[in-house]
Amino acid sequence: MKLRSLRFCFLCVLCGFVVNAFSLDREAFTFTSYDLNFRVEPAQQRLGARGKITLRNDSTTPQKIAVLQISSSLDWRSIKAGGKQLQFVSQPYTSDIDHTGSLSEAIVTLPEAVPPKATVDLEIAYEGVIVLDATRLAGIGAPDSRAHSTDWDQISTKFTAVRGLGYVAWYPVATEAGSLAEGTSAFDIVGRWKTREAASSMHLQISLPSDDEAEKPELLVNATTCPTAHEVQHQFLADCTYRSLGLVVPTFVIADYEVVDRAAVQVHFLHGHDTSAAVYADAVEKAIPLITEWFGVQRSKAETADLADPNALPFESGPLLLMPLTGTGPKLSGLAAAHQLTHASFFSPRPWINEGLAHFAQALYLEHLSGRPAALDYMGLHRSALSAVETEKDAQTTAPRSGDEAARSLVNTTDEELYRSKAMCVWWMLREMVGDPALKKALASYRPEEDNEPSYMQRLIQAQTKRDLEWFFDDWVYRDRGLPEFKIESAFTRKTLPGAYMLTITVSDLGAAGAEVPLTVKFAGGEVTERLVVRGKSNGVIRVQVPKPPEEVVVNDGSVPESGTTNHVFKIEASETSK
Ligand SMILES: [Zn+2]
Repeated sequence: MKLRSLRFCFLCVLCGFVVNAFSLDREAFTFTSYDLNFRVEPAQQRLGARGKITLRNDSTTPQKIAVLQISSSLDWRSIKAGGKQLQFVSQPYTSDIDHTGSLSEAIVTLPEAVPPKATVDLEIAYEGVIVLDATRLAGIGAPDSRAHSTDWDQISTKFTAVRGLGYVAWYPVATEAGSLAEGTSAFDIVGRWKTREAASSMHLQISLPSDDEAEKPELLVNATTCPTAHEVQHQFLADCTYRSLGLVVPTFVIADYEVVDRAAVQVHFLHGHDTSAAVYADAVEKAIPLITEWFGVQRSKAETADLADPNALPFESGPLLLMPLTGTGPKLSGLAAAHQLTHASFFSPRPWINEGLAHFAQALYLEHLSGRPAALDYMGLHRSALSAVETEKDAQTTAPRSGDEAARSLVNTTDEELYRSKAMCVWWMLREMVGDPALKKALASYRPEEDNEPSYMQRLIQAQTKRDLEWFFDDWVYRDRGLPEFKIESAFTRKTLPGAYMLTITVSDLGAAGAEVPLTVKFAGGEVTERLVVRGKSNGVIRVQVPKPPEEVVVNDGSVPESGTTNHVFKIEASETSK
């Protein structure tokens, strides 16, 4: 009797496995190509889509089921293969990768199982409304005003702006559920999808009615090529192609824009925002010399479009920057311009290079404008976000997740905090280690099409300097060794000649990442700054000569990001100075 029940239980476990094996693998297919027609009707806040998508089975097992997801405010109308209707079940799927906090998921039975690496073409149709919706942010307790200035996507007669994955699933995707309440889960899922889709292509035709002769709205799409919309039979039509999506989030905007058109930038602004638009265009022109010096001449014209809500959070993707032009003063305009111009001048498929440099350019811009402390302050703001990421990571160490040192490294990461904030600090440190001329030359020799190995950038910089940078790239770029934590262990003074004091300073790094860190010795009426390399989990020793009795030593001026809050000041008592 006992044996039977045991065997029965054993079977239960087996059944469990069987169900699991046939459960949905939502991320089995990569959507390698989209060819879609969209009809946008602002007066109804509607969008209708039909066209073809190609799915490739990137899993290791044949797949008979495909999952297609769109925003929960859209409905599936038809899914066909080879002209034949396919059976599908449509169900809501809770996920915070869409602003509504939910997706309309179609579970499609394919005509036959698709083997690994094979593809299947599906003809699809769906439609529905896209209205202002802050459900997912309300779900994590964000106040209404904050939520709407973050999730500002909508279709309406006054203003239409719809961003893709991570905001509104207006084209089909297939992902596991992401929750904003669960730390980084929603961001991880968006990052994973972008990585899978980086080589995918997208062809879009977007049309909107143009019956009203008086109103001629402008349609902007952040595609690789997108000739200006033209009018055909009472319709505006834009024909846009994304050659490869890379990390671009397909986005379209429709508004009654007016334009400030300069050689370097086109600023699309809303009625009454003429002055702000000119301020921004001026800021762009002012930043050109600095950006050109560092990142070369512009490859493409920068494109900026106004957001109606003055509190709306800016968004950039591909060549397009969306931001409220009002309420953006000259200083913020300059910062945004430096970032946008860097993108227009320099491109890398690697986020830590592409975004890291655009943020580094902002620090350079501030340094150029108001000196080094202003740049360090700015990086300090980013660093607080970075420390938060590091703390979170430390908290996870008890229950390790799939990500290890290499997966969280700058070369591989899809975590924005890392490829923006941390990468910016890495570029700043590299600059101080090798000097401006060497880094500028290295950047000038960069060719995105030749960037096939993670070490490509290191080799380019190495070619311009005699320094060994392997350890630095290893600690900061190829692996995630966290941040350094410096402490001055000791500082001994010896009077050498009349009017000369020699200090021997030992600095330890309690963290696992090493860095070259500035060290300043202060004395009555002056100070001397030297730089010292301290490798992770070790000590560095340096001798510094000063003309008067030293009073204190300070390690790190904020140019090297650190974890922890170790005291960086070492006071030297007068009695410590040996005679
Ligand atoms: Zn950027």
